[in-house]
Amino acid sequence: MTKNGILCEINGKKILLDPKTTDSSGVNFVSHAHADHLPSKNGGQILSSIETNQIANLRGFKMQNHVTSLEEFSLVDSGHILGSKGLLFDDVFYTGDICTRERGFLQGAKIPKCKTLITECTFGTSEFVFPKLEETKNQVNELISQFYSKGIPVILMGYQLGKAQTITQLFGHWSPLYFHDSVKQMNDLHNQLGVPLSQGMGHTEAKDKGLLDKKPWIMVAPMMSEKNPFIREMKSKYGAVTVGFSGWAKSTKFSFGRRADYSIPLSDHCDFDELVEMVKNSGAEKVYTIHGFVEEFAQHLRKIGIDAQPLRENSLDDFI
Ligand SMILES: [Zn+2]
Ligand SMILES: [Zn+2]
Repeated sequence: MTKNGILCEINGKKILLDPKTTDSSGVNFVSHAHADHLPSKNGGQILSSIETNQIANLRGFKMQNHVTSLEEFSLVDSGHILGSKGLLFDDVFYTGDICTRERGFLQGAKIPKCKTLITECTFGTSEFVFPKLEETKNQVNELISQFYSKGIPVILMGYQLGKAQTITQLFGHWSPLYFHDSVKQMNDLHNQLGVPLSQGMGHTEAKDKGLLDKKPWIMVAPMMSEKNPFIREMKSKYGAVTVGFSGWAKSTKFSFGRRADYSIPLSDHCDFDELVEMVKNSGAEKVYTIHGFVEEFAQHLRKIGIDAQPLRENSLDDFI
């Protein structure tokens, strides 16, 4: 582990996993196009899926020297967002961000066998066990219909990349359906990449045409706080209510998961039970934890007899 993320050296080849700064002499693996996993500039060879490349493009990062495959490396679907991959090389599997639960167009990740597993553990404590998708769907459809029948607009909020598309797929049957412009742009790219999502007008166009005055309506928007001018306007002008989707909604400690009028636990990451299951399925002899509850999750794994430790700067001397 270096300041610049995880560095592995195998057979004289340098491979960097989700580096902040790419290494010009190595292979730079970019697991997916969320901002915290994209490099800040080009240099060296970049290995990622074609979808990650295209989404990164849309988000303003043009990858140079990009490849989608490389000998001795296997990119494995990680089920987190469109195009997200884990990386299998030698006996090592790096999860990137991962979800083994099927959600709409996203299939749950299938974990390959490995000796060493480097896994994220965003939700690596037992308070994070998410409800079944079917339950969530029913609960939210009921909530929407309550407001809909009273002529009250509902704004469904989740991260612009990933969650917003899942929300669109789960609740896109409501009509009229509008999108925050940024979500529309991302949904359009998903449609181009072969993910059929319900189409609808962006908020600027809908507003200009006076369509938002005709209530009720449903809108999919990025996660925003109640203080955001856009949400304030939607509330004061149209009386909209907000429903926020986040894995953090499960927590009693992290209030940022419950900033909307209604907060629904829905995540693009494994929950605690799924993380444990995934680790067991990998058959790994050694597990390194990164992101989230690294200490707590490693401790839990050790308790159930799996050799695990958090991955910290310079903690990897035995591994490189
Ligand atoms: Zn992510
Ligand atoms: Zn992440």
